Amino acid sequence: MRNMHAVVYNGKSLILVEKPCRKIRPDEVLLKIAVCGVCGTDIKIIAGQSHAAPPVVLGHEFCGSVVEKGKDVTDLNIGDFVAVDPNIACGHCQYCRRGQVNLCENLKALGVDIDGGFAEYCVAPAGQCFHMPLKTDPLQATLLEPLSCALYGFQKAAIKAAESVLIFGGGMIGILMLKLARLSSARQVIVVEPDANRRKLCLKMGADLVYDSGDRNVKAILDATQGGAEVVIECAGAPLAVEQALRMIKNGGRLVIFGVSPAGQKIPIVPYEIYRRDINIIGSFLNPFTFKNAVDLLVTGRIKLNGLDIKAFGLTDIQVAFENQKRQKSLKTVIDLR
Ligand SMILES: [Zn+2]
Ligand SMILES: [Zn+2]
Repeated sequence: MRNMHAVVYNGKSLILVEKPCRKIRPDEVLLKIAVCGVCGTDIKIIAGQSHAAPPVVLGHEFCGSVVEKGKDVTDLNIGDFVAVDPNIACGHCQYCRRGQVNLCENLKALGVDIDGGFAEYCVAPAGQCFHMPLKTDPLQATLLEPLSCALYGFQKAAIKAAESVLIFGGGMIGILMLKLARLSSARQVIVVEPDANRRKLCLKMGADLVYDSGDRNVKAILDATQGGAEVVIECAGAPLAVEQALRMIKNGGRLVIFGVSPAGQKIPIVPYEIYRRDINIIGSFLNPFTFKNAVDLLVTGRIKLNGLDIKAFGLTDIQVAFENQKRQKSLKTVIDLR
């Protein structure tokens, strides 16, 4: 039996332990983890604000190579480099049967309900693994999970030619949305972000215009978009941003609520305005059937995820890494196990 170092969430905090790798089932593979991203959700789990099933190894944004495979696994080989879609749907509940796997009533996620990627090894169903060329940069492959989620929200925004896209939040997710919007035929892409360094990075990543989130900029944005953006994508996870977004959206526009606002926080909405202005308010949760597309965008070079401010830590520095992500000291924090 193989032993490994892993970071276990015990319901209160993170502890580095040594534990045996679980035996794989016929349809599973054992992965040697290369890189695993620290997500905002991980921070929320530790703070008791997001669900997890302790004791569990956290980490749901990871890639690695196949070191063992079950006897029923036919499309993966030892040595293959893969990224993992952590969200495992049951396949038989009412939502799964309708193809809405992100709404699965029995959804289990690697790194949330089942042991995930903050470890030297992880067991994953082969069906959750996406094969990529060996030359793929693991630091970029780690961003495929968030990219697949962004892609789902982006597809729901259904951007048409010459539309104006306004993105709230210039963090990692905002930048992924920005990159997707740059691939579309939008006439302009604008980012609203309070942090000056991040605004600078957004310009470098292709934003046409960037603004601070202050109310004083509402008029400037309305002017720049000829009275509001057709599409607004909220990636800040701030109820106030949703409120602002409704003031900056054109009549007939679509607002995608992608950012994770604190549960229970409310904002005032005037139903008459939504009716009279013909506004579509759209939710977006997880990544149903978008992981393959995200992989294709990365491996074909259509989306390049280099040049981002990614800070890497070792597994033993997990506490520092979580602190780094929590304080948003870099755009993205990862655990590099190579
Ligand atoms: Zn995540
Ligand atoms: Zn289901």
